[in-house]
Formats: sequence, structure tokens, C-alpha cells
Amino acid sequence: MRSIYCGAVTSANIDQEITLCGWVDRRRDHGGVIFLDLRDRDGIVQVVFDPDSAEDFARADKVRSEYVLKVVGKVRARSAATVNPNMATGEVEVYGTTLEILNNAETPPFQLDGHIHVGEDVRLHYRYIDLRRQEMQHNLRFRSKVTTFIRNFMDDEGFIDIETPILTRATPEGARDYLVPSRTHDGKFFALPQSPQLFKQLLMVSGFDRYYQIAKCFRDEDLRADRQPEFTQIDIETSFLNEDDIMSITERMIRHLFNDMMSVDLGDFPRMPYSEAIAKYGSDKPDLRIPLVLEDIKDLMAEVDFKVFSGPANDPKGRVTALKVPGGNDLLSRKQIDDYTKYVSIYGAKGLAYIKVNDKSDLENGLQSPIVKFLPNDVRAAILERVAANNGDLIFFGADSHKVVTEALGALRCKLGADLNLFTCEWAPLWVVDFPMFEEIEGGLTPLHHPFTAPSCRPEELLANPAEALSRAYDMVLNGTELGGGSIRIHDQNMQQAVFNILGINEEEQREKFGFLLDALKYGAPPHGGLAFGLDRLIMLMTNSHSIRDVIAFPKTQTAACVMTDAPGAVGSSQLRELHIRLREKPQA
Ligand code: ASP
Repeated sequence: MRSIYCGAVTSANIDQEITLCGWVDRRRDHGGVIFLDLRDRDGIVQVVFDPDSAEDFARADKVRSEYVLKVVGKVRARSAATVNPNMATGEVEVYGTTLEILNNAETPPFQLDGHIHVGEDVRLHYRYIDLRRQEMQHNLRFRSKVTTFIRNFMDDEGFIDIETPILTRATPEGARDYLVPSRTHDGKFFALPQSPQLFKQLLMVSGFDRYYQIAKCFRDEDLRADRQPEFTQIDIETSFLNEDDIMSITERMIRHLFNDMMSVDLGDFPRMPYSEAIAKYGSDKPDLRIPLVLEDIKDLMAEVDFKVFSGPANDPKGRVTALKVPGGNDLLSRKQIDDYTKYVSIYGAKGLAYIKVNDKSDLENGLQSPIVKFLPNDVRAAILERVAANNGDLIFFGADSHKVVTEALGALRCKLGADLNLFTCEWAPLWVVDFPMFEEIEGGLTPLHHPFTAPSCRPEELLANPAEALSRAYDMVLNGTELGGGSIRIHDQNMQQAVFNILGINEEEQREKFGFLLDALKYGAPPHGGLAFGLDRLIMLMTNSHSIRDVIAFPKTQTAACVMTDAPGAVGSSQLRELHIRLREKPQA
């Protein structure tokens, strides 16, 4: 129907007759002349109708926002006074000769440029209109370019794109499963994959050697800002490569991607052991753009006559740590400090002690703080030295269980970085390595990654001291966000069973849940490993979007629902009967 996209019309088209198809972005009536801004996926161009062509002029007079039009016209230069430098097509306009209304439109529920004034629920309810906005058009086209780049990169590296099932068994990635009842197997359920983990490992047993897939994953979790119940991974698995090889290929992919799409040079990614990330940054995904670091002072607090500090300092599971904000005395008001105290309470911290360093040479009177009276002078001096304090600095303290202090001060560090705009660079990638195999939870151990991750020690060592064992896992982190994670896998049946045993999965359960994997490991499983990137988060970072929902065409809300289609929806009784399901009566209110 069209000869050119609206956004593509330039001075090069002057005097040409063109045909455009698109939506009315705006209509203005300027005393006998009608201006229509016509919009399509490439942009907007101004079309002018005057009464010389009476019928078309009359039609132009009738059109309203979001009508769909076909316009034939001639491109002409705008006069110098009317050139619009803010518009890609701003040097030209189209003198319209024929106008066909392809469809009319009701008044849209919100103006496309007024979307910020409407709630996200309204935007999601009318998502097909929201997606007409330039920002959303850009994000989704950007996303398409990224996936094309990745497919080409993977193809060049010899990776094979293989689809894995969506209707499957539970794949343990630590979340709740989405279940699908089976009609043909009474009382049985499929689980939607939390990731293609087990299938990609089986593909290695089958000899495909290098697999990738842009795969949908499903996790029924309580949603946080950057989570979605269904999301997309760039999923990768390889055989006969070690962690260095895998990190090197995938690092190259991300580096080239940033270079190609955004002309950003991410440089070489440093590697940091998990223990260092937790100790210095209070996070396993440290944001290295922020120069603040945590300094442990447990040793300095063991003897002080102040339970809040000495308690955790003498508890093997406690942590006492300091976080210096250079120049913080002037930067932070009393009110802000109170707000930060509230902020860390989200992470379970019972308070947020601080010292303002007014004059470090005067230990008696130069430190201002509600807690300083509890600290003898030698401890005061040692703290100042440990954090290399200068006059004007403010030092925050955390003292509690290791978990609470790490999470609270790790989060505070990031919040201070953002609030005070302390960023030293735009992009800070790194690898976090040497993760522990397991995490202690009430009643036992749970895998830090997933139960198929190989330990970096021998089986005897693992069994002797599982809580201390490290794994061959690695995470790629960018600006405090985990972009992807993976590991070398266990390819030995006995080792896999040993890990299941440590996790308290008995043999019967092992057979029932993972029998097919344990069998496959007996039939010549090669050493293998891989990783998966979260595509949505990657796009969110690259487009600098505020929400993961802004890079997904049809996302779910925070309560895991789709307000446009009204999913999940009720199901009729005959359908339920076929699925062998009877709903429980809701208790009467
Ligand atoms: N399946 C893992 C995940 O979804 C990634 C991997 O280990 O390759 O996090």
C-alpha cells in the first residue's frame, strides 16, 4: 500500500510523489489549512491539506487522533521559518493530494505522549496502544536486534539452536513450578520449565557439543520489580570446555553486543571470588560503579562494653562492619540518616549507628555520634584507621547476624551510590566466581545455584565438609545486576548422587524426580557446562529502562496477571471435569 515509511521521508524525496500509511498522531487546523502528523513504526511526518482538493480536505477535517490513513502526496521543503530541528523529518512536509480513511478510532484512553500521567494498569490494559509509543517501539525493535545479533554470534561460534519442551517435569531452579493438569493422565501434572537445564545437559550427552536457545522460562515466585513469571533466557551449554573457555566465549558475546549496538567498550571483565564480593560489597552481584566498600571490624568490637556491637562480634555467625561515606558529613542531613535507618530495617537491621568524623586528631571530642561514648579511644582510633577516615567523612555501622549486616549494608551502599550519584563510570561488568556449593537453611543445605553444579573439590572432600565446598559456578554481573549465571556440571553419576544425598534427597526421590538424568549420566556423559543470560534484564539495562515490563511486549503485573486478556481466567466445569479437577468451595465470608 505504501511507498515509504513516514519516518523515512527526507529532503532526498523532495518533489517525489509518495504514498504513506499510518496513524494520526496529531491534527491541527490552522485557518484553512489542516496539518496531520502521520505516524508509523519509523517515525512521524507532517502532511498538509488545503481546500484546493475539496473532498480530501473535508476528509482531513474529519479525522481524529489514531485514525488509520492512507495518504498520497508530494514531498516539499519546509520554509526556513517552519523547519523543525526536533523532528527527523523536520526539514520537509508532504503536500497531501489524496486521503483515504482506512479505519477510524475511538478517542484513545490516553494520549500517547501523556502516558506518564496514567497508571501502568491502564497502559497494560490497552497495551496495543501503549506499544505505539516511540519508547516502546524502540525497546522492542532494539530487543529484536539484540536477539538477531546473538543468533548470528552463536551461529558463527558453531552453536546449534535446539528447542526443548515446555510441557515437562519440574526442573529445580529454586522457585515454585507452574503446573499444567494432564487430561490424558488422571491426577498427573506437567510442570512448565523453570529453565531448560536438564534438557540442555541431555543434549550434551547426545553429542550436540554446543547448544543455545532463546528460551521461555517460568517461575511462580513472588514478583519483585525486575521479575516476571515468564521470562526469556539466552540459554547455552557446551561440552569439553572448562569454565575459562565458557566465560571467554560469553564475555566476548556481551562485549561485542555492547560495541555493536551502543558503541560501548566494556573492556575485560575482572573476576572476583564470591567471598570478596560479600566481604567488600555485601552482595554477590556488586555494583562496581560505586566506590564505597564495607570494612569488617569484628575484631575491634569483641571487647567493647556495648552489647549491640560486642554481641555479634563474639558470635561466629555475626558480622560487624563499617561503611565510610567520604565527605558524608556535609552530604547527609539528620533526616536522610533517619531515612537510611528506615531503609536498612527492610533488611532486618535493628538500627543504623554512625559516626561523623569532625576532627580525627581529637578522639575525645572530634567524633560526633550517639554511640561513640561506648567506644574506648583505642577502638575509635583503630576504626578510623581501618576505614582510612578523613575529616568530614561519615561512617555507618552494621552489627547483627552475618546475613542481616551483609544484606542491609550491601543495599545501603547501593542506595547511597544512587542517591549521592557517586558513580565513577557508566558500565562496570565483572565475573563473580568461587561460589559456595551450598547455602545453609533451616534444616539443612540448599544448592546456591542448582543441584547439577559441579564442586571444585574431590567427592571425598565434598562429603567430608559440604558447607565449606566451593563450586565451579560463575555469574556475569553488570552494574549490580546479574546478567547471567552458569557452571560446569556434574557428569558423573556417583558425584550427582552424592550431591543429592547431601541435599537430603533420598534414593527413591532421586529415581522418581531425576531417574532419567542419573540414567543418562551412565551412558557416556561428556564433561559439560554452560550458562544462561536473562534476556529481559539485559535489554532493560541496555535501553536504560526503569522496569522490565518496558522491554516485554505483553508483560504480567506485579500480581502475575495480564490485565488486558484478564488471565488467569476462570474455567468451565466441563473443562475441569476433563482435567479431573474439582475446585474446593470457597469458605463463606
Ligand atoms: N539453568 C540455570 C539458570 O536458569 C543457568 C545455567 O546453569 O546454565 O539459572
